[in-house]
Amino acid sequence: MNCFKIYGNEYVKNKLSTMISKGRIIPSILICGEKGLGKSEMAKYIAASLNCEKHSGSPCSQCRSCRMILNDSHPDVTYVLPSSKAGLYRVKEDIRPIVSDAYVTPNESGKKIYIINDAQKLNTECQNALLKVFEEPPGESVFILTADNRQSVLETILSRVFSFEMSRVLPEDAKKAVMQNGFDSEKAQDAQSAFPGNIGKQLEYLRGEDVFDAVKIARSVTDAVCQKNEYEILKAYSQITDRETAYSVIDILLEILSSAVEYASGAEPCLCAYNEGARKISGFAPASRIVSLCEILLDAKEKTQGFANISVLTAVLAAETAKLQ
Ligand SMILES: [Zn+2]
Repeated sequence: MNCFKIYGNEYVKNKLSTMISKGRIIPSILICGEKGLGKSEMAKYIAASLNCEKHSGSPCSQCRSCRMILNDSHPDVTYVLPSSKAGLYRVKEDIRPIVSDAYVTPNESGKKIYIINDAQKLNTECQNALLKVFEEPPGESVFILTADNRQSVLETILSRVFSFEMSRVLPEDAKKAVMQNGFDSEKAQDAQSAFPGNIGKQLEYLRGEDVFDAVKIARSVTDAVCQKNEYEILKAYSQITDRETAYSVIDILLEILSSAVEYASGAEPCLCAYNEGARKISGFAPASRIVSLCEILLDAKEKTQGFANISVLTAVLAAETAKLQ
């Protein structure tokens, strides 16, 4: 049976459920967290909790309202989509219409819900337009926003929303979710080591989508670092062809390096995309140098926007990474 499934995140689910069952409805909610943690599923889950005909505070998955939300056909649940060619929201086309619509009574008996995914794609003008409705919320409407990071949301909005972070899930929950998607236990284990606790990224990895290449590149950079071969480091980085992959490779490398620091300090390291590589790095590079490479990579990620040419970025990354030896 098709039903709402949110793995882990029990604390948030219980808190929301208690609030909703007691009728304490918050008119605007912000869900934060890295890509792949299930923010949009959580938005849908909250929409269903608010409108479930059983009023228990969480969705029953069986009533008419829950079934309509599961099929994306509920007349009072609107998914707002960015309409610009660049994939950004536009105030006149995307935001103002829903702000006016929020004051119209719902079609069904429950709440009118507006889900705005990727709030980092809302510019200041869009956010200010939303702020007006957050300041004077219409009684029957609820706005649910999701964002990769809180920094992309204006302080004025943050002060008016109920916000929470999605967390990574336990290995056994991730394994269950991955296996329910048709992968065997061995594949689930491999995905878990590449993206611990992030079900969305694990599935992307196993389906051979973009992150699969990013893991491959990050592992070859790590190997080249262990071989202390500057040319191989550059060769590994030069497999990066676009900015998105560059971001993913940097994120994966940062986790490998964090594990290396933990190995070096004798702590039990968390799983990362390449545990063996992390252990080897900890064998020859002092923790202080690994930490400074992490800072350089974070800085490079920030600056990625400034590099018009990806090969310039990869050359800079290679030069900085080579200093680790
Ligand atoms: Zn229901």
